[in-house]
Amino acid sequence: MKRIGIIGGMSFESTAHYYERINRQISELAGGFCSADLVVRSVNFQKYHDLMDKDDWATISLRLLLETSNLVDGYKCDYVAIATNTMHKVADELYGYPLVHIGDCVAEKCREVGAKRVALLGTRFTMEEDFMKKRLEANGLEVVDCLKEDDIHKIDQIIFEDLCHGRVMSDAKIYLQTLCNDLISGGYDLDGVILGCTELEMALDEPIRNRYLERDGFYLFDTTQAHVDKIVQLSLS
Ligand code: GLU
Repeated sequence: MKRIGIIGGMSFESTAHYYERINRQISELAGGFCSADLVVRSVNFQKYHDLMDKDDWATISLRLLLETSNLVDGYKCDYVAIATNTMHKVADELYGYPLVHIGDCVAEKCREVGAKRVALLGTRFTMEEDFMKKRLEANGLEVVDCLKEDDIHKIDQIIFEDLCHGRVMSDAKIYLQTLCNDLISGGYDLDGVILGCTELEMALDEPIRNRYLERDGFYLFDTTQAHVDKIVQLSLS
C-alpha cells in the first residue's frame, strides 16, 4: 500500500472526515484488518488564518512547502494531499512534489458524467481568484461566473463563521440549497455545481459519498469526497 501524507487542520472538522472516510473505504476495499497508511500533519489553522488575513501568501507557501517536504522526504510519503481547496492557491509552489490536487480530483468526477459547465462555490479566495478556476479549466471544464457579490460574502461567512467550527445552522442549509436551485434554474445552462470547500458538504442533508448527487440531470460535486476517492485509489495502486 502507498503511504499518503495529508496536510490538514484547515479545518479539523473536514480533516476528520478525510481520516474516517479514507480508512473506511480502504477497509471495505482491501478487507481483513487493512487500514490506510497515512501521515496526518494537522496544523494550527489560526496561524494560517492570520496569514490569510494579512494576505501573506508567500509565508503560507513556504510553510506548506516545508510541510510537504517533511512528508515526502522525512516520512517517505508517496503522495501528499492538502485537505482544503483554498490552500491550493499556492499549489504551483509545490511543483515537483507528488501532490494530489483537489481540483483534478473533482474535475475527474465531472468528466465521468460528461458535466462541462459548472459553478464553483467555496471561500472568497476560491470563488474570486482564478487558481482553482484555471485548474478546472485546464481539465476541460468551463467555470461559469454566476455568483453575486452578496452570495460570495454569505458563502464565505457560512464557511468561516459556522462550518469551520462544526456548526451547521438550518438557515445556512436552506440558503445553500436555495442558491443551488437558483443557479440551476437561473438560465446559466449549468451541468452542475462544485462544492469547492471541504466543509460545504456538511450543509447537505446527506453527504455525497463516492460519486456525486444527481437531480434531473443536474449534478452536485463535492471536492472532499472526490479527493478522498482519489487518495483511496492511489493508496491501493
Ligand atoms: N477548508 C476550506 C476549503 O476547502 C476553507 C478553509 C481554508 O481556508 O483552508 O477551502
